[in-house]
Amino acid sequence: MTDTPLITSPEHSVEGFVREFLRELNFTQGTVLERASTNDTYLALARTVRHYLMARWMETTTAHYRRQPKAVAYLSAEFLLGRQLDNALLAADLEEIAAEAMASLGLDLDELRQAEVEPGLGNGGLGRLAACFIDSLATMSVPAIGYGIRYEYGIFRQTFVDGRQVEEPDHWLDNGSPWEFAHPEHEVTVSFGGHTEKYTEGEGDDAVERSRWVPGWQVLGVPYNYMVPGYRNGRVNTLRLWSARATHAFDLKIFNYGDYAEAVRAQTFAENISKVLYPEDSTPQGKELRLQQQYFFVACSLRDFIDQLLPEGFDLHRLHERICFQLNDTHPVIAVPELMRILVDEQGFAWEEAWEVTRRCFAYTCHTLLPEALEVWPVELLGRLLPRHLEIIYRINDEFLDEVRATYGDDELLVRRMSIIAEHPFRAVRMAHLATVAGTRVNGVAELHSQLLRDKVLADFARLWPEKFTNVTNGVTPRRFVRLANPGLSALVTEAIGDGWVTDLDRLRELEPFADDPEFRRRFRDVKAANKQRLVELLERRDGIEIPTDTMLDVMVKRLHEYKRQTLKILHVISLYDRIVSGELDVAEVVPRTVVFGAKAAPGYVMAKEIIALINHVGAVVNSHPVASQVLRVAFPANYDVTVAETLIPAADLSEQISLAGKEASGTGNMKFALNGALTIGTDDGANVEIRQLVGDDNFFLFGLTEPEAAAIAETGYRPSAYYEENPVLRRALDLVARGEFSGGDRSVFEPVVSNLLGEDRFMVLADFQAYLDAQDRVEAAYRDPEAWSRSAVLNVARSGFFSSDRSMRDYLDRIWHAEPLAD
Ligand SMILES: *Cc1c(COP(=O)(O)O)cnc(C)c1O
Repeated sequence: MTDTPLITSPEHSVEGFVREFLRELNFTQGTVLERASTNDTYLALARTVRHYLMARWMETTTAHYRRQPKAVAYLSAEFLLGRQLDNALLAADLEEIAAEAMASLGLDLDELRQAEVEPGLGNGGLGRLAACFIDSLATMSVPAIGYGIRYEYGIFRQTFVDGRQVEEPDHWLDNGSPWEFAHPEHEVTVSFGGHTEKYTEGEGDDAVERSRWVPGWQVLGVPYNYMVPGYRNGRVNTLRLWSARATHAFDLKIFNYGDYAEAVRAQTFAENISKVLYPEDSTPQGKELRLQQQYFFVACSLRDFIDQLLPEGFDLHRLHERICFQLNDTHPVIAVPELMRILVDEQGFAWEEAWEVTRRCFAYTCHTLLPEALEVWPVELLGRLLPRHLEIIYRINDEFLDEVRATYGDDELLVRRMSIIAEHPFRAVRMAHLATVAGTRVNGVAELHSQLLRDKVLADFARLWPEKFTNVTNGVTPRRFVRLANPGLSALVTEAIGDGWVTDLDRLRELEPFADDPEFRRRFRDVKAANKQRLVELLERRDGIEIPTDTMLDVMVKRLHEYKRQTLKILHVISLYDRIVSGELDVAEVVPRTVVFGAKAAPGYVMAKEIIALINHVGAVVNSHPVASQVLRVAFPANYDVTVAETLIPAADLSEQISLAGKEASGTGNMKFALNGALTIGTDDGANVEIRQLVGDDNFFLFGLTEPEAAAIAETGYRPSAYYEENPVLRRALDLVARGEFSGGDRSVFEPVVSNLLGEDRFMVLADFQAYLDAQDRVEAAYRDPEAWSRSAVLNVARSGFFSSDRSMRDYLDRIWHAEPLAD
């Protein structure tokens, strides 16, 4: 590190903390304790904590600049960060000091923590993964930077009206954002539109034909820096998010024509680019503004890395020695032609030279298996917005298809399949193909997913370049999802095996013997009970939902999508209700359970919103039934986000991971639950496969079709109505919905859901229904034996260390990035 710190941190003591806090409250917040609002106090507290990390941040940044190690740039359109205060307190080892300091001033740290609005700059799994990865990179002292978009409105706030989802804008910046640092002096200009020109450079024998882009309009990108503190290692990395502004010149020109209104309109137009996160998940949305967002943030990021983070005069032929740009899904893939454009058009590289460098600088992570989720951009749109990039993509494609023909001969069907340009149903650029052609490596996010990428989704490419394809199973950060979210379990684990697990999660293995220790299991159950109590209080306070404290907590939280099959879960609830109400099941025989859902649906995804309404309506009927509600409750708190996840997951007994096999790429929710000692009921899908292998069949409730079985059924023609006709339990459950039991007798309300299941049922809910019910019977039987259940739960914790995002990062470093931690 540097010889002398650039600044000194405040004193690491209660007195030092109080002094710094009061200074912040008075000097920056401009108020005094007696008159400060909760928000004033929270902001002062956040800035105080920030100051403790500041010297480390400056030192880390300086060290990276001076030493120029190989770095990683994680390009992601989403970072679902969650609240920052707790994580910063943990990283700086200030938890106790801050609590004492606040108490000494008559303030409650817990209450102040609640004042933070989480930055919801992502939809779900993909954005949360990016946040876990940058946390791990900082904790492992890897030189890394995250690049993304500072959306003014993040993921919408979900509310329910009559059980139906209503979206409200997320005003996350309204109360001030103490964790960000704007740097307008480092603004970057980004161009769009216009046309390209050919021109000749040099004369006679030296003359070369070159192209240049004459853009039609421009916007500015202003960087906002966020600290990414490593866990107590003296390092703080940077997350740089870009905000769009109108250019000054653009305004001025219009002003000079005297059209004030037009100038303001132009400004609004430019600033729309970073206005709102697209609330889509698992489906791309072919919107022009979205392509603008994608190009905007990668153009800013490449410019920033080349101009700001490399030393002046750096030889860009060696760019790959300094950086690997990781493409988190296809959203940043337009960075590939952008780097080519910079190298060829601006730096004067020969095409081949530029391609050599470019293909060594990128790696691509694919996150899906659903063909409809693979992003394509109409050639017409891309050519209008980014004409030079389209030319570059065409040339990359021409050369690539020459290589395909050279390898396989003139197999035009194959060439058409592999082409970066699709011809049907309209001419479009296939971003996944572009990423695969350009990337040094292409990875899936769990073993099964990577296998299916090689065998199905990108099979032609895997045959051409087998060495390109690899797997990196996802992970989650143990700091946020165990240490912070589950303080009770953390204390218990640390007492048993020391605190090394926080940065070396494989050490959880040392807990295995404790699974057989009745005293340890009792304490584990006490922790679970306390976590349930915490959840009960949260739901009461936040949502006015009342749930019992002592039932089996059965949790399904994730985005609402048909492939994830919340429908299967609600059909199980309906079936239980039906069997209780009809007297087939005696309440005395049923293990009391509370089923908790949390899920947002994309606003335009009609079926997903119907399923939300169905869940809420079933919940209302079940919860108010005098008999059924004695043993069965349904809770659906609105607006599932990272903050809710942090209270909900540690309380769960049962983790629902019930996607149709072959559809969920990995899942990371499944890992969070296992690490917090919930048992999984799950299909053989995504990372469930690896969870089950690690925790053991005895500690996992497997059910349902396998991927090859589901594929075989789809091949021969799936008939969901056959399952309905043959299974009376299923028939009764569906008939209840169809007859209007959950819609006040109105048969039309959920008709679309029922007819979809009986007609297409694309994700084979009905085919897996009976197997799921049988697995739930096994769950009930197991739950009746608390000793055996808690033994399994402890083994889930002990054997899930593999799912640390630190391990994911090691895999990326070794196999893809070829970078390493920076030594002190
Ligand atoms: C972990 C997480 C997800 C991803 O959940 P999956 O079950 O893997 O789909 C989504 N949203 C939030 C808020 C999360 O914390």
